[in-house]
Amino acid sequence: MKESKVGWLGGVVIDTDDGRMIFDPVATRDMERNAHVFISHAHSDHTLGFHSNVTKYSTEQTRRIYEKLRERTVRNWRPAEYGRRMRIGDTDIVPLNAGHMLGSAQFKVAAGSETYVYSGDLNCVDTLTTDAAEVPECDTLIVEATYGDPSFVFPRRERTYARIVNWALRELKNGRMPTFHVYSSGKAQEIVRLFNVYTKLPIVCTPIVGKANEAYGEAGVRLTFVEAETAEGRRLLRKGNCVYVTTTGSNSLVPSHASEAVATGWAVRFGSGSYASFPLSSHAGFDQLVKYVAGTGARRVYVFTGYSELISKYLRKELKIEADPLPLLSQRSILDF
Ligand SMILES: [Zn+2]
Repeated sequence: MKESKVGWLGGVVIDTDDGRMIFDPVATRDMERNAHVFISHAHSDHTLGFHSNVTKYSTEQTRRIYEKLRERTVRNWRPAEYGRRMRIGDTDIVPLNAGHMLGSAQFKVAAGSETYVYSGDLNCVDTLTTDAAEVPECDTLIVEATYGDPSFVFPRRERTYARIVNWALRELKNGRMPTFHVYSSGKAQEIVRLFNVYTKLPIVCTPIVGKANEAYGEAGVRLTFVEAETAEGRRLLRKGNCVYVTTTGSNSLVPSHASEAVATGWAVRFGSGSYASFPLSSHAGFDQLVKYVAGTGARRVYVFTGYSELISKYLRKELKIEADPLPLLSQRSILDF
Protein backbone atom coordinates (compact mmCIF):
# COMPACT_ATOMS: atom_id res chain seq x y z
CA MET A 1 0.00 0.00 0.00
CA LYS A 2 1.52 3.31 -1.12
CA GLU A 3 0.91 6.45 0.86
CA SER A 4 -1.86 8.56 -0.64
CA LYS A 5 -1.06 12.09 -1.66
CA VAL A 6 -3.29 15.07 -1.08
CA GLY A 7 -2.89 18.49 -2.62
CA TRP A 8 -3.82 20.95 -5.32
CA LEU A 9 -3.04 20.19 -8.96
CA GLY A 10 -5.63 21.90 -11.14
CA GLY A 11 -8.21 20.76 -8.58
CA VAL A 12 -8.15 19.06 -5.20
CA VAL A 13 -6.35 15.75 -5.65
CA ILE A 14 -6.32 12.56 -3.61
CA ASP A 15 -4.07 9.96 -5.20
CA THR A 16 -4.91 6.39 -4.29
CA ASP A 17 -3.82 2.92 -5.41
CA ASP A 18 -6.98 2.95 -7.54
CA GLY A 19 -6.05 6.09 -9.47
CA ARG A 20 -6.32 9.80 -9.02
CA MET A 21 -9.47 11.30 -7.55
CA ILE A 22 -9.88 14.94 -8.62
CA PHE A 23 -12.45 17.14 -6.92
CA ASP A 24 -13.86 20.22 -8.68
CA PRO A 25 -11.03 20.54 -11.24
CA VAL A 26 -10.48 23.96 -12.82
CA ALA A 27 -8.46 22.51 -15.71
CA THR A 28 -9.18 19.42 -17.77
CA ARG A 29 -6.03 19.32 -19.92
CA ASP A 30 -3.52 16.51 -19.35
CA MET A 31 -5.94 14.58 -17.16
CA GLU A 32 -4.90 10.92 -16.82
CA ARG A 33 -7.29 8.42 -18.31
CA ASN A 34 -7.59 6.56 -15.02
CA ALA A 35 -8.56 9.74 -13.14
CA HIS A 36 -12.02 10.08 -11.60
CA VAL A 37 -13.64 13.51 -11.42
CA PHE A 38 -16.05 14.54 -8.66
CA ILE A 39 -18.16 17.68 -8.99
CA SER A 40 -19.36 18.94 -5.61
CA HIS A 41 -22.08 21.36 -6.80
CA ALA A 42 -23.46 23.31 -9.74
CA HIS A 43 -21.79 26.73 -9.27
CA SER A 44 -19.83 27.52 -12.42
CA ASP A 45 -16.42 27.75 -10.69
CA HIS A 46 -16.82 24.07 -9.71
CA THR A 47 -18.27 22.49 -12.85
CA LEU A 48 -15.45 22.65 -15.39
CA GLY A 49 -14.76 18.94 -14.77
CA PHE A 50 -18.02 18.10 -16.56
CA HIS A 51 -16.13 18.89 -19.80
CA SER A 52 -13.44 16.27 -19.20
CA ASN A 53 -13.42 12.88 -20.94
CA VAL A 54 -12.90 10.80 -17.80
CA THR A 55 -15.68 9.37 -15.62
CA LYS A 56 -17.53 12.12 -13.74
CA TYR A 57 -19.51 11.77 -10.53
CA SER A 58 -22.00 14.25 -9.08
CA THR A 59 -25.46 14.20 -7.61
CA GLU A 60 -28.36 14.03 -10.04
CA GLN A 61 -29.42 17.56 -8.98
CA THR A 62 -25.98 19.03 -9.66
CA ARG A 63 -25.95 17.55 -13.16
CA ARG A 64 -29.50 18.71 -13.92
CA ILE A 65 -28.90 22.29 -12.77
CA TYR A 66 -25.68 22.40 -14.79
CA GLU A 67 -27.36 20.99 -17.92
CA LYS A 68 -30.28 23.40 -17.66
CA LEU A 69 -28.13 26.51 -17.17
CA ARG A 70 -25.50 25.52 -19.76
CA GLU A 71 -27.84 23.86 -22.24
CA ARG A 72 -25.49 20.92 -22.72
CA THR A 73 -25.48 17.22 -21.91
CA VAL A 74 -22.92 15.63 -19.59
CA ARG A 75 -21.47 12.38 -20.91
CA ASN A 76 -19.65 9.57 -19.09
CA TRP A 77 -21.38 10.51 -15.83
CA ARG A 78 -22.25 8.39 -12.81
CA PRO A 79 -24.77 9.41 -10.14
CA ALA A 80 -23.58 10.14 -6.60
CA GLU A 81 -26.33 9.73 -4.02
CA TYR A 82 -26.13 11.01 -0.45
CA GLY A 83 -25.18 8.14 1.84
CA ARG A 84 -24.78 5.56 -0.95
CA ARG A 85 -21.31 4.01 -1.12
CA MET A 86 -19.54 3.96 -4.47
CA ARG A 87 -16.58 1.70 -5.13
CA ILE A 88 -13.57 2.34 -7.36
CA GLY A 89 -11.28 -0.70 -7.04
CA ASP A 90 -10.64 -0.99 -3.31
CA THR A 91 -11.47 2.66 -2.65
CA ASP A 92 -14.86 3.56 -1.16
CA ILE A 93 -16.45 6.96 -1.78
CA VAL A 94 -19.56 8.15 0.04
CA PRO A 95 -21.24 11.44 -1.02
CA LEU A 96 -22.81 13.43 1.82
CA ASN A 97 -24.94 16.56 1.96
CA ALA A 98 -22.87 19.79 2.06
CA GLY A 99 -25.80 22.18 2.71
CA HIS A 100 -24.47 24.78 0.26
CA MET A 101 -27.14 24.54 -2.44
CA LEU A 102 -29.48 21.90 -3.86
CA GLY A 103 -27.46 18.75 -4.65
CA SER A 104 -24.21 20.01 -3.11
CA ALA A 105 -22.02 17.20 -1.82
CA GLN A 106 -19.01 16.46 0.30
CA PHE A 107 -17.12 13.26 -0.53
CA LYS A 108 -15.80 10.84 2.05
CA VAL A 109 -13.04 8.64 0.64
CA ALA A 110 -11.76 5.47 2.32
CA ALA A 111 -8.47 4.42 0.73
CA GLY A 112 -6.39 1.80 2.52
CA SER A 113 -6.47 2.50 6.23
CA GLU A 114 -7.11 6.27 5.80
CA THR A 115 -10.34 8.16 5.49
CA TYR A 116 -10.47 11.56 3.81
CA VAL A 117 -13.25 14.11 3.42
CA TYR A 118 -13.37 16.74 0.71
CA SER A 119 -15.87 19.35 1.88
CA GLY A 120 -16.50 21.35 -1.33
CA ASP A 121 -18.45 24.50 -0.45
CA LEU A 122 -20.13 24.05 2.89
CA ASN A 123 -23.02 25.50 4.88
CA CYS A 124 -23.70 24.26 8.39
CA VAL A 125 -27.20 25.64 9.05
CA ASP A 126 -30.62 24.72 7.67
CA THR A 127 -32.05 27.10 5.09
CA LEU A 128 -35.45 27.30 3.37
CA THR A 129 -34.10 25.19 0.48
CA THR A 130 -31.33 23.01 1.98
CA ASP A 131 -30.51 21.03 5.14
CA ALA A 132 -27.35 21.76 7.11
CA ALA A 133 -24.18 19.91 6.08
CA GLU A 134 -23.47 16.55 7.65
CA VAL A 135 -20.39 16.30 9.86
CA PRO A 136 -18.53 13.16 8.73
CA GLU A 137 -15.77 11.60 10.83
CA CYS A 138 -12.42 11.25 9.06
CA ASP A 139 -8.63 11.15 9.50
CA THR A 140 -7.81 13.85 6.95
CA LEU A 141 -10.11 16.74 6.13
CA ILE A 142 -9.79 19.02 3.10
CA VAL A 143 -12.01 21.97 3.84
CA GLU A 144 -12.86 25.32 2.23
CA ALA A 145 -12.42 28.53 4.22
CA THR A 146 -14.23 31.23 2.26
CA TYR A 147 -15.09 32.87 5.60
CA GLY A 148 -12.18 31.53 7.65
CA ASP A 149 -11.67 34.83 9.47
CA PRO A 150 -13.16 35.44 12.95
CA SER A 151 -14.93 38.61 11.75
CA PHE A 152 -17.31 36.48 9.64
CA VAL A 153 -19.86 35.30 12.16
CA PHE A 154 -23.35 35.42 10.70
CA PRO A 155 -26.56 36.38 12.51
CA ARG A 156 -29.25 33.72 12.90
CA ARG A 157 -30.76 33.01 9.50
CA GLU A 158 -34.34 33.69 10.67
CA ARG A 159 -33.27 37.18 11.69
CA THR A 160 -31.77 37.85 8.26
CA TYR A 161 -34.90 36.46 6.59
CA ALA A 162 -37.04 38.86 8.65
CA ARG A 163 -34.81 41.81 7.77
CA ILE A 164 -35.03 41.02 4.05
CA VAL A 165 -38.84 40.75 4.08
CA ASN A 166 -39.24 43.93 6.16
CA TRP A 167 -36.94 45.86 3.85
CA ALA A 168 -38.82 44.66 0.74
CA LEU A 169 -42.23 45.60 2.20
CA ARG A 170 -40.96 49.06 3.14
CA GLU A 171 -39.50 49.67 -0.32
CA LEU A 172 -42.76 48.59 -1.98
CA LYS A 173 -44.74 50.91 0.29
CA ASN A 174 -42.49 53.75 -0.85
CA GLY A 175 -43.07 52.96 -4.53
CA ARG A 176 -39.78 51.17 -5.15
CA MET A 177 -39.39 47.63 -6.49
CA PRO A 178 -37.16 45.39 -4.33
CA THR A 179 -34.52 43.91 -6.65
CA PHE A 180 -32.01 41.24 -5.59
CA HIS A 181 -28.71 40.67 -7.39
CA VAL A 182 -27.76 37.11 -6.46
CA TYR A 183 -26.21 33.92 -7.90
CA SER A 184 -28.62 32.38 -10.40
CA SER A 185 -28.54 29.02 -8.63
CA GLY A 186 -28.68 28.54 -4.89
CA LYS A 187 -29.14 32.03 -3.44
CA ALA A 188 -31.80 33.05 -5.99
CA GLN A 189 -34.00 30.07 -5.06
CA GLU A 190 -33.62 30.78 -1.36
CA ILE A 191 -34.82 34.36 -1.95
CA VAL A 192 -37.78 33.18 -4.05
CA ARG A 193 -38.73 30.58 -1.45
CA LEU A 194 -38.39 33.19 1.32
CA PHE A 195 -40.97 35.47 -0.30
CA ASN A 196 -43.18 32.49 -1.22
CA VAL A 197 -43.24 31.33 2.41
CA TYR A 198 -43.60 34.67 4.21
CA THR A 199 -45.49 36.88 1.73
CA LYS A 200 -47.99 36.68 -1.11
CA LEU A 201 -45.96 39.05 -3.27
CA PRO A 202 -45.46 38.16 -6.94
CA ILE A 203 -41.82 37.25 -7.69
CA VAL A 204 -40.31 37.96 -11.10
CA CYS A 205 -37.12 36.14 -12.12
CA THR A 206 -34.75 36.57 -15.06
CA PRO A 207 -34.78 33.61 -17.50
CA ILE A 208 -31.54 32.09 -16.16
CA VAL A 209 -32.88 32.19 -12.58
CA GLY A 210 -36.11 30.70 -13.93
CA LYS A 211 -34.18 27.73 -15.36
CA ALA A 212 -32.48 27.04 -12.02
CA ASN A 213 -35.90 27.41 -10.32
CA GLU A 214 -37.23 24.67 -12.62
CA ALA A 215 -34.42 22.31 -11.61
CA TYR A 216 -35.25 22.97 -7.95
CA GLY A 217 -38.93 22.37 -8.68
CA GLU A 218 -38.16 19.01 -10.30
CA ALA A 219 -36.27 18.04 -7.13
CA GLY A 220 -39.29 18.88 -4.97
CA VAL A 221 -38.50 22.46 -3.86
CA ARG A 222 -41.70 24.32 -4.76
CA LEU A 223 -41.09 27.82 -6.10
CA THR A 224 -43.77 30.17 -7.38
CA PHE A 225 -42.51 32.86 -9.75
CA VAL A 226 -43.14 34.65 -13.04
CA GLU A 227 -40.50 34.67 -15.75
CA ALA A 228 -39.37 38.22 -16.62
CA GLU A 229 -39.70 37.83 -20.37
CA THR A 230 -43.34 36.76 -20.38
CA ALA A 231 -46.16 39.31 -20.87
CA GLU A 232 -47.07 38.96 -17.17
CA GLY A 233 -43.43 39.38 -16.12
CA ARG A 234 -43.01 42.51 -18.22
CA ARG A 235 -46.25 43.99 -16.85
CA LEU A 236 -45.19 43.36 -13.24
CA LEU A 237 -41.72 44.84 -13.81
CA ARG A 238 -43.22 47.93 -15.44
CA LYS A 239 -45.62 48.54 -12.54
CA GLY A 240 -43.03 47.59 -9.92
CA ASN A 241 -45.49 45.84 -7.58
CA CYS A 242 -43.37 42.72 -7.26
CA VAL A 243 -40.01 41.42 -6.03
CA TYR A 244 -37.43 41.09 -8.80
CA VAL A 245 -34.72 38.43 -8.60
CA THR A 246 -31.88 38.92 -11.04
CA THR A 247 -28.24 37.89 -11.23
CA THR A 248 -25.11 39.49 -9.85
CA GLY A 249 -23.83 42.33 -12.00
CA SER A 250 -26.81 42.53 -14.37
CA ASN A 251 -27.54 46.25 -13.92
CA SER A 252 -28.54 47.18 -17.46
CA LEU A 253 -31.99 45.60 -17.37
CA VAL A 254 -33.04 46.96 -14.00
CA PRO A 255 -35.88 49.53 -14.19
CA SER A 256 -35.33 52.99 -12.67
CA HIS A 257 -37.92 52.39 -9.92
CA ALA A 258 -35.87 49.46 -8.58
CA SER A 259 -34.36 49.48 -5.11
CA GLU A 260 -31.40 47.14 -5.28
CA ALA A 261 -29.95 44.69 -2.78
CA VAL A 262 -27.37 41.95 -2.43
CA ALA A 263 -27.54 38.93 -0.11
CA THR A 264 -24.07 37.60 0.70
CA GLY A 265 -21.87 36.66 3.65
CA TRP A 266 -19.49 39.49 2.73
CA ALA A 267 -22.20 41.91 3.95
CA VAL A 268 -21.12 41.43 7.59
CA ARG A 269 -17.90 43.30 6.75
CA PHE A 270 -18.30 45.18 3.51
CA GLY A 271 -21.02 47.51 2.25
CA SER A 272 -22.32 47.41 -1.31
CA GLY A 273 -22.45 51.08 -2.28
CA SER A 274 -26.01 52.25 -2.85
CA TYR A 275 -27.36 48.70 -2.59
CA ALA A 276 -28.92 47.34 0.57
CA SER A 277 -26.93 44.33 1.75
CA PHE A 278 -27.98 41.33 3.82
CA PRO A 279 -25.62 38.76 5.40
CA LEU A 280 -27.31 35.70 3.88
CA SER A 281 -24.48 33.25 3.27
CA SER A 282 -24.36 29.88 1.51
CA HIS A 283 -21.04 29.19 3.24
CA ALA A 284 -20.25 28.43 6.86
CA GLY A 285 -19.22 31.41 8.96
CA PHE A 286 -15.99 31.21 10.97
CA ASP A 287 -17.60 29.82 14.14
CA GLN A 288 -19.50 27.15 12.17
CA LEU A 289 -16.38 26.18 10.25
CA VAL A 290 -14.37 25.64 13.44
CA LYS A 291 -17.20 23.62 14.97
CA TYR A 292 -17.46 21.50 11.82
CA VAL A 293 -13.70 20.80 11.75
CA ALA A 294 -13.74 19.80 15.43
CA GLY A 295 -16.80 17.58 14.80
CA THR A 296 -15.05 15.55 12.11
CA GLY A 297 -12.34 14.50 14.59
CA ALA A 298 -9.75 14.91 11.80
CA ARG A 299 -6.10 14.62 12.86
CA ARG A 300 -4.91 16.36 9.69
CA VAL A 301 -6.64 19.33 8.08
CA TYR A 302 -5.85 20.97 4.76
CA VAL A 303 -7.56 24.27 4.07
CA PHE A 304 -8.15 25.83 0.68
CA THR A 305 -9.62 29.11 -0.67
CA GLY A 306 -10.32 32.23 1.34
CA TYR A 307 -8.53 32.66 4.63
CA SER A 308 -6.67 29.34 4.61
CA GLU A 309 -3.51 30.64 6.33
CA LEU A 310 -5.42 32.42 9.07
CA ILE A 311 -7.81 29.61 10.01
CA SER A 312 -5.00 27.00 9.82
CA LYS A 313 -3.12 28.98 12.45
CA TYR A 314 -6.25 29.19 14.60
CA LEU A 315 -6.92 25.42 14.34
CA ARG A 316 -3.32 24.60 15.27
CA LYS A 317 -3.39 26.91 18.28
CA GLU A 318 -6.91 26.45 19.62
CA LEU A 319 -7.80 22.87 18.60
CA LYS A 320 -4.24 21.46 18.54
CA ILE A 321 -4.90 19.95 15.10
CA GLU A 322 -2.26 19.65 12.38
CA ALA A 323 -3.67 22.22 9.99
CA ASP A 324 -2.13 23.86 6.92
CA PRO A 325 -3.16 25.47 3.66
CA LEU A 326 -3.56 22.77 0.99
CA PRO A 327 -0.12 22.19 -0.58
CA LEU A 328 0.48 22.66 -4.28
CA LEU A 329 1.57 19.44 -5.93
CA SER A 330 3.90 19.39 -8.87
CA GLN A 331 3.27 16.91 -11.66
CA ARG A 332 6.58 15.33 -10.63
CA SER A 333 5.68 14.80 -6.98
CA ILE A 334 2.58 12.95 -8.12
CA LEU A 335 4.49 10.75 -10.57
CA ASP A 336 7.17 10.01 -8.01
CA PHE A 337 4.99 8.58 -5.31
ZN1 LIG B 1 -20.52 27.36 -4.46
